Amino acid sequence: MTALSSLIVGFLNILRGMSVTLANFGAPKVTVQYPRQRRRVSPRYRGMFYLKWNPEKERLNCVGCTLCAQACPTDVITMHKVGKGTDAGVDEFTMDLGRCMFCELCVEACPFDAIYMGQEYEFATYQRDQCVVTIDALAQGGSANVRLNNETLERLRREAEQKRAAKGEGHDAESKD
Ligand code: SF4
Ligand code: SF4
Repeated sequence: MTALSSLIVGFLNILRGMSVTLANFGAPKVTVQYPRQRRRVSPRYRGMFYLKWNPEKERLNCVGCTLCAQACPTDVITMHKVGKGTDAGVDEFTMDLGRCMFCELCVEACPFDAIYMGQEYEFATYQRDQCVVTIDALAQGGSANVRLNNETLERLRREAEQKRAAKGEGHDAESKD
């Protein structure tokens, strides 16, 4: 290729590049000026976790079965279970989001529809310990509902104890007869 033909090819390449610029010059801007502008995320976006509040039963749906923790590949979830059977629940539920891949396996593993991922995504931090979220932040309704949840679980525990005691007394009475 002669110097002249190289010059022509180079010039044509510049024109081709400039034509792309010109074609998009008047097009509407697509850059989002975050954080001044925020786009709505998809309805199925996997954001912050929440523990569902059950207003009828006045407790969280979570029964502390640990299936979510067992399904989690990176050991994000720990909890403290209280009570037994259908009266069981949790008074502590902690997630270390610094380890989380947001894969949603924990949500899928839950048979009680007790945990879900919301649309909140602004929880980045420079400190690892701030990635640890406790039940007060995870529960729908926050610490007020956690208190109510704990009171309900305690009430259920007492009622179950009374039922057991009443059954035991009934047995004793029957066996004496
Ligand atoms: S989203 Fe995935 S990594 Fe995060 S807690 Fe759930 S199972 Fe674990
Ligand atoms: S969130 Fe669901 S799977 Fe996890 S402990 Fe609670 S009830 Fe069980």
